[in-house]
Amino acid sequence: MTLHNAATSTDQLVELDKQHFTHPWTVFDVFAEQGALPIASAEGCYITDSHGKRYLDAVGGLWCTNIGLGRSEMADAIAEQCRTMAFANPFVDMTNIPATQLAAKLAGLAPGDLNHVIFTCGGSTAVDSAYRLIQYYQNCRGKPEKKHILSRKNSYHGSTYLSMSIGGKAGDHPPEFDFITDFIHHLSCPNYYRAPAGLSEAEYLQQLLDEMESTILTIGPDRVAAFFAEPILGAGGVIVPPEGYHQASWALCKKYDILYVSDEVVTSFGRLGHWFASWDRFGIKPDIITTAKGLTSGYQPLGACIYSDRIHQVISEPGHGRCFAHGFTYSGHPIACAAALKNIDIIEREQLLQRVQQIGPYFQQQMRTLEDLPIVGQVRGMQLMVCVENVRDKVSKALFPEELDIGKRISDHAEALGLIVRPIVHLNVMSPPLTITKEQVDTIVRTLRQAIERTIVDLQAEGHLPASQQQKRA
Ligand code: PLP
Repeated sequence: MTLHNAATSTDQLVELDKQHFTHPWTVFDVFAEQGALPIASAEGCYITDSHGKRYLDAVGGLWCTNIGLGRSEMADAIAEQCRTMAFANPFVDMTNIPATQLAAKLAGLAPGDLNHVIFTCGGSTAVDSAYRLIQYYQNCRGKPEKKHILSRKNSYHGSTYLSMSIGGKAGDHPPEFDFITDFIHHLSCPNYYRAPAGLSEAEYLQQLLDEMESTILTIGPDRVAAFFAEPILGAGGVIVPPEGYHQASWALCKKYDILYVSDEVVTSFGRLGHWFASWDRFGIKPDIITTAKGLTSGYQPLGACIYSDRIHQVISEPGHGRCFAHGFTYSGHPIACAAALKNIDIIEREQLLQRVQQIGPYFQQQMRTLEDLPIVGQVRGMQLMVCVENVRDKVSKALFPEELDIGKRISDHAEALGLIVRPIVHLNVMSPPLTITKEQVDTIVRTLRQAIERTIVDLQAEGHLPASQQQKRA
């Protein structure tokens, strides 16, 4: 066995990492060969590897470093709470000041009557907690049959057994894993770019809503408990549903007494220029919101499931002696909650929501200039969430073979040029810190263009681009 303190050089570190750290989404064959890029430090929108090379991190960690990294104020708040009281038992006999303050703060920021908070360790456990809450609620109100879930293909809701089963990304459901299939139903992904040819956006929207309603009627409205939906499907490729989709699907939920769970793990805490996007951007008041990531800007692991008075009244109705037997050792962890409070304080003080509303449209507009490149089929997104969809043929929208791993080829070139963009099969997604400047946006766009151009040259040399595109570039 190798001791970790033996890792004095970067090469040794990479070797130790290969031997001992099973990373999320490890592709074993590739990892065994290439290992991972060791990151040593971070400041603002930049990260530095252990060779000292600096990168502009356009991914914002993993959709999460909203206020930017390396803030002394955050370090101080965390250290202070660590010294004062690093832990307190959250089970019901005790509470702690940061957790109580944060719960009240979230109730104030969340829309409608979402006044109750279940703290979790991250986004996946927030989604899991939402479903446990839903089961409890339906049983309490005498509807034990009402347990089925609707979600969407291409959605991502986390990596526990339940949250991964609710998610609908084909690539996340490899045959080696098992998934819950008996009560989870995946509706179509609301992606107009991939809609059947010839449909107007309004016709496509109607098709999606008809599918949702007929699925509810087929399962039986008395058996459908909840609809889980990201306002914008993030990891599925920053898919912004057609205009009107959110409100119309919310209306269907209300019509059939189905709880609407808005998974705002990515879209909250400023990513779209609001604390929560559900009401402020999309005009819906969900029954439950799940959040994580930007809640602490990645400085501490924390998630929350925020739910309505209506649900709370049912589950806490006096006289039943009910116990809500759910929670974790680290529910409402004082250090994580102190970090979230300081993070919210910084977002308020620096007016970062307003800042996103100013810089977001510029980011979108500049990113869309990449659509003139021969393999960029579409650039889409909203405010500080963006996706570049790479295609082999812009007219037919046909993709390159998956094994060519176009997104990864582009991100590798970008990385060599000092830019981090996240590859997801044929896509590249970005979600920079809310503090991103115009100059940094320009650098992202310029560098990504160069990375895509280099990839095109490689594809041409390997004979993977059709002749017409080769001629276009000749
Ligand atoms: N929900 C959404 C919409 C997400 O994007 C993610 C993570 O990317 C999760 C849930 C899971 O969050 P975590 O990785 O913190 O468990």
